Amino acid sequence: MTSLEDLPIRDDLRGSEPYGAPQLPDGIQLNVNENSFGIPASVQSSILEEIKKVLGNLHRYPDREFTRLRKALSGYLPSNPAVEQIWAANGSNEILQQFHQAFGGPGRLVLSFGPTYSMYPVIAKGTLTDYIELPREEDYKLTPQYVVDAIIRHKPDVVILCNPNNPTGTAIENDVIEAAYEATGGMVVVDEAYAEFSSSESAISLLKNRPRLVISRTMSKAFAFAGVRLGYLVADSAVVDAMRLVRLPYHLSSLTQAASIAAIENSELMLSNVKQISQERERVAQGLAELELKVLPSESNFLFVEGFRDPRGVFDYLLSNGLIIRKTVIDGALRITIGTPSENDKLLELMPKALASLD
Ligand SMILES: *Cc1c(COP(=O)(O)O)cnc(C)c1O
Repeated sequence: MTSLEDLPIRDDLRGSEPYGAPQLPDGIQLNVNENSFGIPASVQSSILEEIKKVLGNLHRYPDREFTRLRKALSGYLPSNPAVEQIWAANGSNEILQQFHQAFGGPGRLVLSFGPTYSMYPVIAKGTLTDYIELPREEDYKLTPQYVVDAIIRHKPDVVILCNPNNPTGTAIENDVIEAAYEATGGMVVVDEAYAEFSSSESAISLLKNRPRLVISRTMSKAFAFAGVRLGYLVADSAVVDAMRLVRLPYHLSSLTQAASIAAIENSELMLSNVKQISQERERVAQGLAELELKVLPSESNFLFVEGFRDPRGVFDYLLSNGLIIRKTVIDGALRITIGTPSENDKLLELMPKALASLD
């Protein structure tokens, strides 16, 4: 049997492990921040109708510029950015990868503030981009001064700010983004994967006269569309031109485009559970706080919970009872996605038992 080590693979990839959270299709999955409510039945029918329309044309390549999809996104987004300012790809992970292909690369440095999204270093590595992650401030917050000092010290080519931040749920105000933009001559990316759950204003409102600012978004979380793989960015149209230099031609399939158009045209229905998820988040937070755990304020569909004496033991106990949550890189901390009310009930029922079993 040939092993990876026998192949003339890139030296910097030797010994690496593939990234990926475990999947538990028959259990309660509260580990990857999906929307557990799923897609409303009426929207499922609309999606099927849109897909039917393209079936007769699947022998042709898709619209390379996915213009209808970009128009739909423009109609959905706050302040309706121009179609030329919008770009989409297979998940915001691919958005970030294309961005790195165009603005990162050998000799270029990306700066972020951790703990943050664990794909940032993976995407940097895959594109041969240098990556540095500085610790966040107290309770994982970020202030303009701290971010500006970091930029002056490290002179990054790209700054990534995740807002609200995964895995901590922490939101930043737009003044942090404005200060970061002023402090650097490089690109500033705001990853708004959880924007629909947040009460703070989208950085899309800052785009005017800021051609180096990029807002990355996804339909995987609030839109309950993780299985389709649709992410997008909003930026100056020149940034979109840069994406065209590195994208593979026809990267968004006709099926993806059709399904996404139908979902966005039904955005109100697709997002109808967002409010309930936020309410459930506060209910779960209270339930966990009563167990003497420290629950961080969250503006997303998950909670960052600290104060576990044996987080691995808790993770294993829940898993053996058919419920999966997420380990984190922070000592004593776990991340828990908010699910449906019955899934959350199950979590709140199992958690005290998990803690008791480990005492
Ligand atoms: C989930 C997530 C993404 C990307 O997800 P895609 O499914 O690739 O769109 C991007 N950024 C953050 C912070 C995330 O949590």
